[in-house]
Amino acid sequence: MYETIKKYINTFSVTGREYYLANVIEADLKPFATEIRRDAMGNLIVFKKGADSSKKLMIAAHMDEIGFMVTNITDNGYIRVTNVGGISALFSSYGLVKFENGLKGVIVADSSAKDIKVKDLVIDIGAKNKKDAARKVAVGDLCALVPSFTRLMNKRISAKAFDDRLGCAVAAVSAMKSTPKYDTYYVFTVQEEVGCRGAMPATFDIRPDYAIAIDVTGTGDTVGARAMEIKLGNGAAVKLKDSSVICSQLMVDAMTECAKRNGIKYQLEVLEAGGTDTHSMQLAAGGCHAGCISIPTRYIHSPVETVDLGDVEACESLLTALVNEGVE
Ligand SMILES: [Zn+2]
Repeated sequence: MYETIKKYINTFSVTGREYYLANVIEADLKPFATEIRRDAMGNLIVFKKGADSSKKLMIAAHMDEIGFMVTNITDNGYIRVTNVGGISALFSSYGLVKFENGLKGVIVADSSAKDIKVKDLVIDIGAKNKKDAARKVAVGDLCALVPSFTRLMNKRISAKAFDDRLGCAVAAVSAMKSTPKYDTYYVFTVQEEVGCRGAMPATFDIRPDYAIAIDVTGTGDTVGARAMEIKLGNGAAVKLKDSSVICSQLMVDAMTECAKRNGIKYQLEVLEAGGTDTHSMQLAAGGCHAGCISIPTRYIHSPVETVDLGDVEACESLLTALVNEGVE
């Protein structure tokens, strides 16, 4: 798991450019899949045939991460950007960014104002002027924060983009290990960070009976956190609600019963903000029973998202048990 996470974190995958990560995941899962394909949007669909083909289970983890897109270059050679997804100017400023072509820059605020917005940020790539910068960067180019994968105390790790490379790692490791009861589609989705977009056409295509998203959720154990029961180290989080979905009770019961049966540590999640692919899968086509296994994560959408590896492993154990035993 640890090595898979590290590999996925170090792969460029800003929303709209997920194919680099799709290539890495496809190579990892080829030996384990009945069939692998991609749709027009770029979703990677890994199919594993089940013992019983009367039902379909779809699993979704999003490959994209938040980042920046170039809007223009100043006469002095600074790069102006807009946000791709909910990236924070405060969290990102005075950090390092990397473009799709490997070019690096430092991202700074153009003023000392406290409430800086993305429009107040500029990227300094070391260019002497606009012409010099334009040799390396064009309008529409994408960049992301530079990966910073760090081991902390107590099996805890920190990096950018755990949202949702951890979900991808959980789904990928599960796809390597599982023996599905029902026909199972592990879908690595695109464009979640701009409105849960990729999961919708994939769900229309697959028409699952049951759907499980794997994504991160916030915790109530950080300094200044809004009251929330979720804590790092307390196991996989079974989502009840976020601002995009009320999970199917059938899925919540299936997850908690499965966790109890298999001795997997779990906690119940009510997230007062945020949305996930659960939403798109629940509403697409004729609708389906949708739920979500969440990975408790501190400082979401920052360069130092922090998790407990034990929780990540609990999420994978729960997902694999659900795939093997069936939802009902
Ligand atoms: Zn996410």
